[in-house]
Amino acid sequence: ATPVLEVKNLRVEFPTRRGTLVAVDDISLTIDEGEVLGVVGESGAGKSMTGAAIIGLIEPPGRIAEGQILLNGRRIDNLPYELMRRVRGKEIGAIFQDPLTSLNPLYQVSEQLVETIQTHTNLTDRQARQRALDLLKEVGIPAAEERIDHYPHQFSGGMRQRVVIALALCAEPKLIIADEPTTALDVSIQAQIITLLKRLCAEHGTSVMLVTHDMGVIAETADRVAVMYAGRVAEIGPVQDVIKRAKHPYTEGLMGAIPALGNRVGKLTQIDGSMPRLTDIPNGCAFHPRCPRVMFKCHTVRPDLMGDGRHDASCWLHEPVEEGVV
Ligand code: SF4
Ligand code: MG
Repeated sequence: ATPVLEVKNLRVEFPTRRGTLVAVDDISLTIDEGEVLGVVGESGAGKSMTGAAIIGLIEPPGRIAEGQILLNGRRIDNLPYELMRRVRGKEIGAIFQDPLTSLNPLYQVSEQLVETIQTHTNLTDRQARQRALDLLKEVGIPAAEERIDHYPHQFSGGMRQRVVIALALCAEPKLIIADEPTTALDVSIQAQIITLLKRLCAEHGTSVMLVTHDMGVIAETADRVAVMYAGRVAEIGPVQDVIKRAKHPYTEGLMGAIPALGNRVGKLTQIDGSMPRLTDIPNGCAFHPRCPRVMFKCHTVRPDLMGDGRHDASCWLHEPVEEGVV
């Protein structure tokens, strides 16, 4: 079957006074129908930028310099602005860290939901309002009949993010890009929102790309995970394989940073050193200055993803062994 999303050799560049900054460097990944792909990494690793490229929201002068993005087999990286705007509402939903990015503070929640629903369907005002109400109930807004006419500021952070999830689901998109959807919320609320998002997407058959710096969230939510480092995919594979049998030394470090899975402390801070600035990416393997297993070759030759195509890592430790030599 055609994957819902296919990203092929994506490269995102920003011209700066000091030269070209490569924010996303030769990224390839796929998301199948109904699948949750976690994208994890430190800030600046390129995960949000990858999400922004997929929904056509790279801020100029940033641009997609190379590669392709396909949604259900159709290229969307080269669409004119108006067409891409339609794709963004109807086929790809977006949920950002700050719910107020998606909600207009000046309009009642009902108006925003109804407008979005009517943009993508032929429903009448009354039908659209009923659909909006159903969605608010589905995302767990109590007393939805009253609250539907409230303004965004009248909701708590967690409730507001539930409204955003309802808004993202309005058009029954094939794919939702959720970028740090719980980072701004109280810790006690985070798990509820993640659980809700996962359940709703499973029920609606929606695929999800979940961008986060929190490996604990990935462990609980994702089917597969892509670990990003310095604009590249360091490792990608089924989430349990990556957690239990990490192939890339960077991922091993991240796992060391999770004292116990399920206890949500998975902050990616325990590896010595810090991720390079994108203007200053080391030659060879970008991780080599921090890598406990660095080899001679790592200083000069950049590794691409290696493995069985299911669980791969960009690391020379996993270079295929030559066969057939007796
Ligand atoms: Fe470490 Fe070399 Fe693997 Fe990079 S390629 S992660 S430096 S062993
Ligand atoms: Mg980000």
